[in-house]
Amino acid sequence: MLITTNAIIIRERPVGENDKYIEILSDTLGIIEVSAKGARKITGSNTAGTQLYTYSKLCINKTQRGYYLNSSQVINTFYNIRFDIKKLSLVAYLSDLLRYTTPPEEPANIILRLFLNTLHYLNGDERDIEQLKVIFELRLACEIGLMPQLIGCKECYLSSSDKMYFNLYEGNLICENCLTGDELAKSLPLDKTMLHIIRYICLSDFNKIFNFKITEKYQKKVSLVSEKYLKIQLSRYFKSLEFYENI
Ligand SMILES: [Zn+2]
Repeated sequence: MLITTNAIIIRERPVGENDKYIEILSDTLGIIEVSAKGARKITGSNTAGTQLYTYSKLCINKTQRGYYLNSSQVINTFYNIRFDIKKLSLVAYLSDLLRYTTPPEEPANIILRLFLNTLHYLNGDERDIEQLKVIFELRLACEIGLMPQLIGCKECYLSSSDKMYFNLYEGNLICENCLTGDELAKSLPLDKTMLHIIRYICLSDFNKIFNFKITEKYQKKVSLVSEKYLKIQLSRYFKSLEFYENI
C-alpha cells in the first residue's frame, strides 16, 4: 500500500554502503522507521529528502515487513541549525523526547506542528533558544496527557501568591500555607512570573505560544522546572539533555 505523508526525519541509521533506516515523525503515522534504499548515495534521488531534520513529503510503501521509502520531496531543510552546535544539541534532545513519547502509527499533527514551529524559530535568530526549549517541553507534556493542574493550590484553591510550589511528581500546585515537608521535597518554588509563564504556555491557544517573550532572568529558571517535570513524569534520563546543558 502506498502512503503519502509529510514528515520530519528525526534519526538516521546507516545500513551497508548506500542505504539507511530513517526514523520519521509523520503527520498521519506518528513515529515510524522507514527503510531508505540508496539514500546515502551522493547522487541518490532520495538523498536530500532523507537528511536528518529535513521536513519532506514522503511516498512510502507499507508492506507486511515494514515501511519502505519510494520517493521524497524536500519541503524545508532548516539549514541554519546545522551550523550551531548548541541548537543542534537541543534538537537532538527534543527528538529523543519525541521518540520516547509519540506512539507509532497514530496521527501526530499537533506534535509535528509543535516541533516544526520550534525548528522554524531555531533556524532564525529572533527567539531565544532556552525559551524555545521551555515552550516545547511544556506544550509536549500537555499534548501527551501530562498537562499539569495549574488553576490553583490543590488544597485551598488559592490561585496566585508570591510563592507557590509546583509538585513535580503530582503535576499540581500547592501554596506556602498548605505545603507539608514531604511535598516541599517533591516541589520547586514558583514566583508569580514563573507561574504566569507556565500557565501561558500550557493554557494558551496554540497560535499564541511562540508569540511572547520570557525575560532572560526567567528563561533558565522556568527551563529547569519544565525539564525536571518531564524527566520525573517520564521516569527517564536523557543523555542528550546533559550534552545540551554542557555546551
Ligand atoms: Zn493552599
